[in-house]
Amino acid sequence: MKSIVVFCGSSEGTNSQYAEKAYQLGETFANKEIQLVYGGAKIGIMGKVAEGVLSNGGKAIGVIPQFLKKKEVVHESLTELIVTQNMHERKLKMHDLSDGILMLPGGFGTLEEFFEMLTWAQLGLHQYPIGILNINGFYDSLLKMMGDMVDEGFVKHEHINTILVDDNIEKLLEKMQKYQPLPTPKWINKEQL
Ligand code: AMP
Repeated sequence: MKSIVVFCGSSEGTNSQYAEKAYQLGETFANKEIQLVYGGAKIGIMGKVAEGVLSNGGKAIGVIPQFLKKKEVVHESLTELIVTQNMHERKLKMHDLSDGILMLPGGFGTLEEFFEMLTWAQLGLHQYPIGILNINGFYDSLLKMMGDMVDEGFVKHEHINTILVDDNIEKLLEKMQKYQPLPTPKWINKEQL
């Protein structure tokens, strides 16, 4: 993996662990020469990941839609800032620039971005490793919900098994590095989407 898109909160959360681990993730990216692709803000734990990358000599690319440029308080010292027309173009650009997907704690925006990438994987539109950095057990209840979806027959076992989860940065990146993608599903033709 050379470039990972990180989805995470535009808020810092109430527990300082979130911001600390977000910064450490950025530092680890810089040390491993993994490029960060993210939403381009300097606020929240989004900003902390970028700070961790940039303070340690790494590369951080921000992708932000024009209308959020002010609202999200754009980071001004990024390696590159890409401004898109809208949210859809933003997500596609973030996907195109990356070869791995990682979610940290966040709110509705984070979940929306993560689940869209997860559904694209389910449809065979990409085969990137998908990781969740489960800081402070933040996503335990979501993981339980996803398990219920499998038990109740709404999600296939093989699809949930592709999600890589750890609360340790190094271990999670190692799992992502070793990830073997599922074969593209036969029941869907990419060209038809
Ligand atoms: P949040 O997790 O809500 O703090 O949002 C984190 C990221 O999700 C930011 O980059 C936001 O731009 C993005 N975001 C916020 N709201 C939405 C939305 N309705 N749809 C898609 N992305 C969003």
